[in-house]
Amino acid sequence: MVRKSLPIVQPADVRGRYHRARHTVFWLLIALWAALPWISVGGHPAVFLDVEGRRFFLFGATFNAQDTWLLFFLATGIVFALVYLTAVAGRVFCGWMCPHTVFLEGVFRRVERLVEGPRERRIRANAAPWTLAVVGRKVVVQTVYLLLSFAIAHVVLSYFVSLPNVFRMVRARPAEHPEAFAWAFCMTGILYFDLAHFRERLCTSFCPYGRLQGVLIDEDSVVVGYDVKRGEPRGKVSETNKGDCVDCTRCVVVCPTGIDIREGLQLECVGCSACIDACDEVMGRLGRAPGLVRYDSTHGLAGERRRFWRPRIVLYTALLLLGGAVATAAATLRPDYEVVLLRAPGTPYVVTPDGVYNAFDLHLVNKRGTRERFRVTLEGDSDMSVRIEPSDIELDALAGGHVAIGTRVPSERFHGDFRVRVHVERTGADDPREVGATFLGSRP
Ligand code: SF4
Ligand code: SF4
Repeated sequence: MVRKSLPIVQPADVRGRYHRARHTVFWLLIALWAALPWISVGGHPAVFLDVEGRRFFLFGATFNAQDTWLLFFLATGIVFALVYLTAVAGRVFCGWMCPHTVFLEGVFRRVERLVEGPRERRIRANAAPWTLAVVGRKVVVQTVYLLLSFAIAHVVLSYFVSLPNVFRMVRARPAEHPEAFAWAFCMTGILYFDLAHFRERLCTSFCPYGRLQGVLIDEDSVVVGYDVKRGEPRGKVSETNKGDCVDCTRCVVVCPTGIDIREGLQLECVGCSACIDACDEVMGRLGRAPGLVRYDSTHGLAGERRRFWRPRIVLYTALLLLGGAVATAAATLRPDYEVVLLRAPGTPYVVTPDGVYNAFDLHLVNKRGTRERFRVTLEGDSDMSVRIEPSDIELDALAGGHVAIGTRVPSERFHGDFRVRVHVERTGADDPREVGATFLGSRP
């Protein structure tokens, strides 16, 4: 039985300065991503999105459900930073930082290279009849892929349920935590399918970011490009009156999306720079200057003046600085606790021969990552008697609590509605808060 070659691209190995730099970045990113759930800042993981507790810990800062609006800044900030980066440096995010690229190029492709050999051997093996050795190597590779997908899925899970919980869940039976088990199971399957079999098709056919390149970059954005003026007309080394491109197709066989950069910038180019290293290597062997394929703008590749500051970059920079300032102010000016005073459910007030009664419900939310103590006092009419339960309240990190406030004014002393003010003080801090409400009533 003869198998057809796998439809996925089998890029050739490449060496060079960008390859080394990129893989250094990959490993730094992987190390950071795997370490963050272990690093504790202020008693909590450095990055922890506690779904169950509806809390978010970010490098010592704590956020709860009331801070959801800050996510607007986070989401728009990430999107805008990506737009800015693309306008300046093309798809540098895709080639150097995207998790899909980081794991595919930094981990998964390494496994098959290690077990199944270089590109030519892999292609030959895929096209040849089954043998025990070929099947054995495939089984090893796919098993390692599955284990890697399983590990990645569980590290991702730890960002949402914390590391100790992940360890506990892994040791327990799936029926004890069905949601987390289903999530980890599905994520393992998706990662395995994507990184082992789907690969570059995610970038070339599905990723919406790749589809937007046309509008995000301009002729001054730095992209991976081929110097047509220098390279053409291409021809063999032995031929005279030819450009520097010797048509060796090294830049094509190393491309993880299988395109030919000499045909110009294409949507499928993820800016990985493999073709730069490949061509520089060829140029080096021929004693010619590197950079026939290089990072440059379309203007630069055409020999024209390169510009960094152009209207869209000026506008993006101004918007980025403004957005950053507003987001920083919003995050830092955020109070450490929330106080809301509501009238207690039921009738607004009660009148008895004894007096006029108003009841309030004070809702306190501790927004710090530590346990805090609060004291509640009330100020109002001097004839008013007050009952506060409890007047001293302790709240866990990011926890909320209620204080019941009952007030009474003797009927003969009630002369009309008036304001009451509730004071809240946090022990050991100088950030008192005051909220007010109207004492309502009528004479019997
Ligand atoms: S054309 Fe070059 S930079 Fe673009 S994806 Fe292919 S190898 Fe990477
Ligand atoms: S690697 Fe360089 S010389 Fe070889 S085909 Fe590509 S551009 Fe031409």
